[in-house]
Amino acid sequence: MNLKLAELFGKGKTVFSFEVFPPKRDVPIETIYETLDELQYLKPDFISVTYGASGSLADNSTCEIASAIKADYGIESAAHLTCVNSTRHELDVMLERLQDGGVENIMALRGDYVPGIEPKHDFEHASDLITYIKSKHYDFGISAACYPEGHPDSTDQVSDVLNLKKKVDAGAEHLVSQLFFDNQIFYDFVDKAKIAGINTPIEAGIMPVTNSKQIERMVSLCGASLPAKFTKMMQRYENKPEAMRDAGIAYATNQIVDLLSHNVDGIHLYTMNNPYIAKRISENVKSLL
Ligand code: FAD
Repeated sequence: MNLKLAELFGKGKTVFSFEVFPPKRDVPIETIYETLDELQYLKPDFISVTYGASGSLADNSTCEIASAIKADYGIESAAHLTCVNSTRHELDVMLERLQDGGVENIMALRGDYVPGIEPKHDFEHASDLITYIKSKHYDFGISAACYPEGHPDSTDQVSDVLNLKKKVDAGAEHLVSQLFFDNQIFYDFVDKAKIAGINTPIEAGIMPVTNSKQIERMVSLCGASLPAKFTKMMQRYENKPEAMRDAGIAYATNQIVDLLSHNVDGIHLYTMNNPYIAKRISENVKSLL
């Protein structure tokens, strides 16, 4: 079935989706299918697959996995695609591959600059990639990223929201947020986006933090601010892995319950390829969606 992610919204149920990443270079690709074997029973509305993020493979594996999620697991999928380190020709090849693989949805991203690698200059921003995909008349649904606390490269939040509007005007029909730990920041951002004329569904990106190493990495990468109740929890349980895991699941669950009571469009769970944690959180919130 041909389904654009934007069509999932406004159907009387909050969209609940997952993100997975292709295995890292030293891990066999099969491991992702073991993860998906378990995630499928949680019946997410869609699963998105990252592209070259955090040391995972920026090759055909994103396409292969997104294609399998749809064809073999019967779940809608989205393939992430970044442009800053690719030429137009390389993207043409990838777009053809995604189309041939039956992938219907693309999360169009700029991607991060990689230290020591000169970026290709065919595309400067995600909006350029979206414009390009649209100009080629592909029939992909297009999603894009948004940043409740502003993108780290931005000088201020107003210009970041105005740049987000450019992505929407270029053709992004659905947005997924960067992770955050303070829901008020997300609500304020959604208000600003609405004032800027952004009327696409905005999914809240939720990252269950289940070990202290993970949070150090995440915060250094995306600069998310940490509320006092969150840091207190981290300090209390950092040397007790099981308690830390359970506290992280409880914190993410509380965030989701609060978001649902504020009528959020959707929840996008960063699963970190951990079906156990996704399962616990899904069980906690499934009757509330
Ligand atoms: P852009 O939208 O291009 O924004 C980047 C900066 O440029 C911002 O400061 C913005 O305000 C500014 N800007 C945007 N458009 C314009 C314009 N037209 N004119 C002037 N300024 C502009 N990275 C990966 O490598 N692989 C992934 O799979 C991946 N998935 C992600 C999924 C989500 C939900 C999120 C939130 C991020 C993801 N990232 C991924 C990280 C992302 O690639 C980085 O945050 C990157 O630095 C910015 O990508 P973007 O698409 O948001 O960029």
